[in-house]
Amino acid sequence: MKLEENTSHKHDKVVKDKHSSFYQRQYEDDFVSKWDDLIDWDGRTKGEGDFFVKTLKERNAKKVLDAATGTGYHSVRLLNNGFEVHSVDGKDNMLERAFFNARRRDLILRTIHCDWRDLTHDIHETYDAVICLGNSFTHLFEEKDRRKVLAEFYSILGPQGVLILDQRNYDTILDQGYSNKHEYYYVGDSVKAEPESISDDLVRFRYEFDDNTVHHLNMYPLRKEYTRSLIKEAGFPTVKTFGDFQETYKQEEPDFFIHVAEKNY
Ligand code: SAM
Repeated sequence: MKLEENTSHKHDKVVKDKHSSFYQRQYEDDFVSKWDDLIDWDGRTKGEGDFFVKTLKERNAKKVLDAATGTGYHSVRLLNNGFEVHSVDGKDNMLERAFFNARRRDLILRTIHCDWRDLTHDIHETYDAVICLGNSFTHLFEEKDRRKVLAEFYSILGPQGVLILDQRNYDTILDQGYSNKHEYYYVGDSVKAEPESISDDLVRFRYEFDDNTVHHLNMYPLRKEYTRSLIKEAGFPTVKTFGDFQETYKQEEPDFFIHVAEKNY
């Protein structure tokens, strides 16, 4: 009996750890306070250049919803480039840090504390663009949540709206193992970030900081073609996928894919 109880408890834990709300537990205050060490804002700018600013301007986007604000890197960049930005995140400690980061740069963020699954319930405006960046969509573990969130993104966009959503190259991670050029997105030198375990339905990343603290993030390994088909099935007729910000690439080489989806056809 005892053994059965333990086994069922273990099972519950595994199920919970692969849940779309688990990010709430994993972005603890200490982890959030160190997130910018992981990013390295200058290094990130060097890696991505003006890719997002250019992509949004080319599509005439002016009003942008940053759906996965985190500590505010893209919200700040877009505000500095003349966009109107509203900054959403499901974690209040992330939004606090983002607000602080913007304030230090003489900017005021318009923050909205909201889970993507409730977006149109909590926000009654439309946007020219939604960005969901930094490998954030990976936090959704259930397909119904992925579909629901893409439907929310679709409906909060105006008729010419564009969605930019990125992800790690999980195809390569699953098929060949993890490697990283350390040039894009999370480029901070003081953090050791790598998967602790890799399987078809869970990649668990371990982050070790230079003060020896360790944090983890559980991620659902989205295969590229799967994400593209989900986006199309949400109603976006065109989806263009870049690899490490390049239009042409060998499938296995990029560390990150960036999907640019448009409502217009
Ligand atoms: N975009 C930022 C960056 O690139 O540094 C943050 C990326 S971080 C990997 C993912 C962010 O998405 C976290 O701030 C987390 O709180 C947020 N997030 C994850 N799932 C969410 C959900 N269902 N609703 C709202 N925010 C969510």
